[in-house]
Amino acid sequence: MRRYVIAGNWKMNFTPSEATAFINEIKPLVEGKNNCDIIFCAPFVTIGAAMEAAKGSNIKIGAQNVHFEEKGAFTGEISAKMLKEIGVEYVIIGHSERRQYFGETDYTVNLRTKAALAAGLKVLLCLGEVKEERLAGITNEVVGMQTKLDLAGISAEELKNIIIAYEPVWAIGTGLTATPEQADETCGVIRDVVADLYGREVAEELIIQYGGSMNDKNAAELLSKTNVDGGLIGGASLVAEKFNAIVDAAQ
Ligand code: PEP
Repeated sequence: MRRYVIAGNWKMNFTPSEATAFINEIKPLVEGKNNCDIIFCAPFVTIGAAMEAAKGSNIKIGAQNVHFEEKGAFTGEISAKMLKEIGVEYVIIGHSERRQYFGETDYTVNLRTKAALAAGLKVLLCLGEVKEERLAGITNEVVGMQTKLDLAGISAEELKNIIIAYEPVWAIGTGLTATPEQADETCGVIRDVVADLYGREVAEELIIQYGGSMNDKNAAELLSKTNVDGGLIGGASLVAEKFNAIVDAAQ
């Protein structure tokens, strides 16, 4: 039985005081809703305040990126050890905005993932096709290749600490959503590739989220699909009632 994971990606939103106010608002709404894991991935400087506000609740706080080196001359970067020391449990890696605007490649996504796992972090590994690839009918090949490259050299044991977030790039922040059937099919393709790499049993344990304009209106249908085990949510994770409705859909 796979467990739903509902994760918010705040992106570059919420100062520490805004994050505190938001967590204080949503905490009572999601209290006792323990049928899914609830995570908010915060900007680095906001993590401490969000963690403090979330203390004693069923909300976990994650980060949005991590560097692959342990330490050194990498101005502006944050290491896995740093995140671990302040109590971070989850980190997003390979988000399409990192790939699109900051030159992330499958190679660096793989390095970051390995570094995060080595430090004891859990990874929300994002991948997905761009619009032209979907229109060209090569979505399965693209996500299959990303899955293989991003997971290169990662053991079945380590995979237990990875959640894959299938995020079609054309659906992120655009208001366009993959249909539940598209989401199910592509998450299924990713699961099949993982089965080829690690065996069916391991693949059936893997949590695969859908991300791309998931909201209070479409979450229930998306989450009802066999291969969709949760959501990575951007815009709707900034509005307490909307995010709470998605948590409800996962109950
Ligand atoms: C995201 O940032 O991962 C995301 C899916 O954003 P949105 O829900 O706004 O499309």
